[in-house]
Amino acid sequence: MSDGILSTDPEVGNEQKFCFRCGTLIRADAAVCPHCGARQERVSGRRNRVIAAILAFLFGSFGAHRFYLGQIGMGLLYLVFFWTVIPGIIAIVEGIIYLTMSDERFAERYG
Ligand SMILES: [Zn+2]
Repeated sequence: MSDGILSTDPEVGNEQKFCFRCGTLIRADAAVCPHCGARQERVSGRRNRVIAAILAFLFGSFGAHRFYLGQIGMGLLYLVFFWTVIPGIIAIVEGIIYLTMSDERFAERYG
């Protein structure tokens, strides 16, 4: 109560985001998820694990997630072979891998 920053103003705190760990909708400026307690760190310039996974699920056949991760060569390979359905299957597996790996490991590999 002594800290003015912590006071919740419904007009100001409208911007929301999903907790990267548990997926609960929380305030965009929340430092810690009130649900699971995960620290919400916004690292600018780093690629987003969840976006990569979503791209893999939706447009994985075309290598969208590979382009997103900066792997242009691999992305082109997916594009060339998308009609074989194999890239789509690989992409779904990769999407699951993205979702299950930790942010630290994802950043290490793709960030
Ligand atoms: Zn959470």
